Amino acid sequence: MIIVMQASAKEHEVEHVVTSLKNAGLGVHLSEGEFRTIIGAIGDEKLVRALGLEALPFVEKVLPITQPFKLVSREFQAEDSIFQIGNCTIGGNQVILMAGPCAVESEEQLLAAAEGVKAAGAQILRGGAFKPRTSPYSFQGLEEEGLKLLARVREKTGLPIVTEVMDQYTVELVAEYADIIQVGTRNMQNFYMLRELGKLQKPILLKRGLSATIEEWLMAAEYIMAGGNHQVILCERGIRTFETYTRNTLDLSAVPVVKHLTHLPVIVDPSHGTGNWRFVPAMSRAAVAAGADGVMVEVHPQPEKALCDGAQSLTIEKFTALSKELAELAAVLGKYI
Ligand code: PEP
Ligand code: MN
Repeated sequence: MIIVMQASAKEHEVEHVVTSLKNAGLGVHLSEGEFRTIIGAIGDEKLVRALGLEALPFVEKVLPITQPFKLVSREFQAEDSIFQIGNCTIGGNQVILMAGPCAVESEEQLLAAAEGVKAAGAQILRGGAFKPRTSPYSFQGLEEEGLKLLARVREKTGLPIVTEVMDQYTVELVAEYADIIQVGTRNMQNFYMLRELGKLQKPILLKRGLSATIEEWLMAAEYIMAGGNHQVILCERGIRTFETYTRNTLDLSAVPVVKHLTHLPVIVDPSHGTGNWRFVPAMSRAAVAAGADGVMVEVHPQPEKALCDGAQSLTIEKFTALSKELAELAAVLGKYI
């Protein structure tokens, strides 16, 4: 439920409502807008109704949240969520470039990728240490050793790192190293893991499940937020359709839809979305034009030698050219990189 305070409501009147809600065993989320305060009550709607808050002169109205997702919804919080990560902000006027190899393979490979993407303008380094591979015979990632390499390269370059966690048992370990924890497409509905991530105070990059509807995706985000971690970044990475020419079908319409439905930032991954480096620049430009808060792009110093996803990885040269184009596009949109 949402309690909309009168524009003239005083601080102690807001406090009165907050205390009543808390005493009734409800969670409270305060949103202080320019003109009025909106209080989100989390929990059983009947408990909120029983308080009869509408009768108070400083309460304008009490409304149910119509969407099945609550904390995630724009009804609950009208302003965009903005998260600070290192020197950059996600969800505001900055266009974020997360770039790096699909998998961490060696210090040499990771450092070359990191230095290359940093020089090109990327603000965040990506790299998987735990890799969810379709085949059990494919390279599975360097695991903890990969996390250590990411930390070493962060120290050398200053780039914050985003890396994937694959199960609830390694959440603590990955959280020790990562600046942003990635939930891969295959794990979007791993509810035990989402609950564990909800206990952290760290940004989570939540990829859309490969066959998930937007509502299912946002309900997964709700799991994390319901646990108390409100730093959720959504990531559209393509969904399964009848089309096989591209690896997935990148659903760019999801960008304005989630911007309409939620206050959370949204990033687009055109590498997994298309599966082919040739199409990555066009879809990156389209993503930024559609209003995405950034892109996540796979970049490898030698894509032909990559142990994972070489076919969709840009070279450092190609990423540098793309970054320039995105900076120009961002400027047209009143944003910056
Ligand atoms: C990845 O980003 O390396 C990855 C495995 O992505 P997804 O979960 O979207 O397939
Ligand atoms: Mn990959």
